[in-house]
Amino acid sequence: MAEQFMTLHCAPCASCRYETWQRIVDGRLCWDDNYYCAEYGVHACDQGWGVPPPLMRERIVAAEGTVRLAVGGPDGVPLKVVRELYRLTLPQLREARAHGLDATPVEAELLRGLRSGPQV
Ligand SMILES: [Zn+2]
Repeated sequence: MAEQFMTLHCAPCASCRYETWQRIVDGRLCWDDNYYCAEYGVHACDQGWGVPPPLMRERIVAAEGTVRLAVGGPDGVPLKVVRELYRLTLPQLREARAHGLDATPVEAELLRGLRSGPQV
């Protein structure tokens, strides 16, 4: 039977290594996740578009930190862009607009690029 976490053994051990990173490909956010355990000979990798799933994003944030970006207004990242990228609800969007957004460095690079893109 296919289990979603079939590649994982019961608990992370000292040999478990996780590598998660983000890239920008053709102007889109993309993530790669690698899991490897020499002890159990397990290796799994995954990849996707957009903002990574929360657990992976936590690893990126732990490794690289975050950059606070202004949202909305003349100097901020457009609300529409933020909402679409992070799939925010309206209350979350208001929160981001009021307090800024904690983006990973790669997300910040993408969002800054979109902000300074051609004005239509
Ligand atoms: Zn392990």
